[in-house]
Amino acid sequence: MRTQVAIVGSGPAGLLLGQLLHKAGIDNVIVDRASKAHILGRVRAGVLEDGMARQLTAVGAGGRMAAEALVHDGVWLAFMGRRFRLDLKAHTGKSVLIYGQTEVTHDLMDARERAGLMTIYSAENVRPHDFDGESPSVTYDTDGIEKRIDCAFIAGCDGQHGVCRKSLPEGATTVFERVYPFGWLGLLADVPPVSEELVYANHDRGFALCSMRSRARSRYYIQCRTDERVEDWSDDAFWDELRRRLPPDAAESVTTGPSFEKSIAPLRSFVIEPVRFGRLFLAGDAGHIVPPTGAKGLNLAASDVHYLAEAFGEYYADGSEEGLRAYSEKALGRAWKAVRFSWWMTNLLHRFPDAAPFERRMQETELAYLSQSERAAAAMAENYVGLPY
Ligand SMILES: Cc1cc2nc3c(=O)[nH]c(=O)nc-3n(C[C@H](O)[C@H](O)[C@H](O)COP(=O)(O)OP(=O)(O)OC[C@H]3O[C@@H](n4cnc5c(N)ncnc54)[C@H](O)[C@@H]3O)c2cc1C
Repeated sequence: MRTQVAIVGSGPAGLLLGQLLHKAGIDNVIVDRASKAHILGRVRAGVLEDGMARQLTAVGAGGRMAAEALVHDGVWLAFMGRRFRLDLKAHTGKSVLIYGQTEVTHDLMDARERAGLMTIYSAENVRPHDFDGESPSVTYDTDGIEKRIDCAFIAGCDGQHGVCRKSLPEGATTVFERVYPFGWLGLLADVPPVSEELVYANHDRGFALCSMRSRARSRYYIQCRTDERVEDWSDDAFWDELRRRLPPDAAESVTTGPSFEKSIAPLRSFVIEPVRFGRLFLAGDAGHIVPPTGAKGLNLAASDVHYLAEAFGEYYADGSEEGLRAYSEKALGRAWKAVRFSWWMTNLLHRFPDAAPFERRMQETELAYLSQSERAAAAMAENYVGLPY
């Protein structure tokens, strides 16, 4: 098979890139090792920046989001038994949308199917080849038979455990990493959220987040140790711990119910430089991971593929390689700012096992400063709604 851009990975980065390329008249094929059902079953992010929402609309996949997403103009920050509201709209003129990653993926897959574009699911042993030369290709196996996609470019949109990054020659990249000494235990339940807007809580017992997927479906998280097992957390134990970490007015309003998903995610910041090698371009989690505290992972995938689609567009429109050359620097320039913000929010809100009382006071003082200073609040709001691209 032959195409212009072979995309490895059918997560938000790969699917959105596919639609952006299609809109620009650029042929593409997506190959993913997972099945469609498996991909749609993954529960992950749920806060969309304006840039992500605009792109979904631009590629014709924003209809359901426009009808169903919740528009949030602010978020709550809680500490020392009280909370204050960060008014995103007042500080930036922008809001964020609450719309699950699963729904985004669903809508992009539907748009891809409507456009008649090819996606190969459940492909085994996917491998990128010869991307340092003029004739790259991607091979994969189905039913024990090897197939090959010849292409002009490969887009590695295959997430943090993908094959594209691992295929790079040793020494070709620099890795920057911070592993946090805790994880998030998340629970999904069909109960109304405790608050109209998200509540981020810093508490002596650890961080908690009250998030949601809709007015009837809540997503809650509590900070946990990295060696804890999800089986050891009953729903009752989770609800009790969540309530302990919220300010009293919020704790009293928590509606509990049976969970239908519970999982533990480790927290990590990770960036590789560069994210381009010859004719292979990495986008999304393949090139960088952020802890979910700033709700940036999914949104970074969207800004990466915006730059990448623009670069391919220029190349196919007038043969210019300028955008391709600039891709790594542009994408990482924005990604690093989100990495910084996610790291800052993580440091501000979590309980670090080795933190001295001094560091605890620093967190409390910074939260007090944010609640009192318009300028500090504006800086946080600007980053939370997403820096422009
Ligand atoms: C448990 C969890 C919770 C998260 N929660 C949040 C959150 O609350 N907020 C937030 O903003 N972000 C969150 N994230 C991050 C966010 O989900 C990611 O940033 C986002 O999915 C990145 O999209 P992507 O397309 O780059 O990668 P992915 O969504 O990971 O997609 C990669 C695709 O590549 C495929 N693939 C992998 N390896 C191969 C291979 N060898 N061959 C072929 N295909 C392959 C995978 O099957 C997958 O479909 C979370 C992530 C995880 C794992």
